Amino acid sequence: MNIQDLIRPTIKALKPYSSARDEFQGNSDAMVFLDANENPFENGVNRYPDPQQRTVKSLLSKIKEIPQENILLGNGSDEVLDLIFRAFCEPNQDNIITLPPTYGMYSVLANINAIAIKSVQLDDRFQPKVDAILKIADSNSKLLFLCSPNNPTGNSFEAKSIERLIKEFKGIVVIDEAYIDFSNEESWASRLNEFPNLIVTQTLSKAYGMAGIRLGICYASSEIISVLNRIKPPYNVNELTQQKAISQLEKNEITKQQVSNILKERNVLVSKLKDVNYISKVYPSDANFVLAKVDDATKRYNQLIEKGIVIRNRTTQPRCENCLRFTIGTSEENKILIDTLNSI
Ligand SMILES: *Cc1c(COP(=O)(O)O)cnc(C)c1O
Repeated sequence: MNIQDLIRPTIKALKPYSSARDEFQGNSDAMVFLDANENPFENGVNRYPDPQQRTVKSLLSKIKEIPQENILLGNGSDEVLDLIFRAFCEPNQDNIITLPPTYGMYSVLANINAIAIKSVQLDDRFQPKVDAILKIADSNSKLLFLCSPNNPTGNSFEAKSIERLIKEFKGIVVIDEAYIDFSNEESWASRLNEFPNLIVTQTLSKAYGMAGIRLGICYASSEIISVLNRIKPPYNVNELTQQKAISQLEKNEITKQQVSNILKERNVLVSKLKDVNYISKVYPSDANFVLAKVDDATKRYNQLIEKGIVIRNRTTQPRCENCLRFTIGTSEENKILIDTLNSI
């Protein structure tokens, strides 16, 4: 597969903006910087941030064992996903494939970018229907979104299905691994060398505890990364975000402890949810949330709101009738949830 054939002609012809910090990178202590019209008085943020976020990437590269040239960072996964649309999807011409029930942003971004959406519902085990997906794809199907572990169902997709889709789909396969750190599955980012049409996205918003700084990660071949680099806003990840990401990633042990605590809490919550008399099913989860089927999702949702507990009502999603999604909180929060569920 030739990736160049998938890139929009406009993007291939683009001459990117070259920022002052792109043109010259030096040792900031030894140099006098009079190139970017910044205010020279130091306050920690008076300089433009590194457009290539090299320190953040080097830490991520070590933690995830992925070379830096295969990493692009964005203002949340949302920006990363939007860049992927703008690189590959021609407005009013191309389409994407999504597998509902899944994360809502894929179709929102498609709509913003005037890209048609083809959807193939997951099967009754919430797994992709590989044959149906390959059959619905046409020559304008540029992106296939696989969210694994999937939001809101919580399960991971079977590796053999994912592999067949990557090999047989004739566009880019985007695997959204926002919840990978809560699962035992290996990240597909370790197999980028095998699949030129693979993009893997992750985020610091969930396991890493930094939803507030907005930092999304994209792993892909250096060929795809360089295309996305051409179209990203030059300073898309701000200085405060980079600083906070660096200090937290240096304390990666804390993240690991928190994840293992959340997984322990998930087990407790799952078993207690099963004992709630109006919950008929608790779906298995590889993520930091669980989906459960209740008697009347909207009624239970409203009752919880009245008691001051906010969860997600997913009842309008396909195959999720009367389903509620619960994020795993601290042990105290989960106890309040269970006590409240049992009292209503
Ligand atoms: C939460 C979530 C994200 C994270 O998005 P950010 O913009 O990085 O916060 C991405 N994908 C899925 C499926 C999610 O649930």
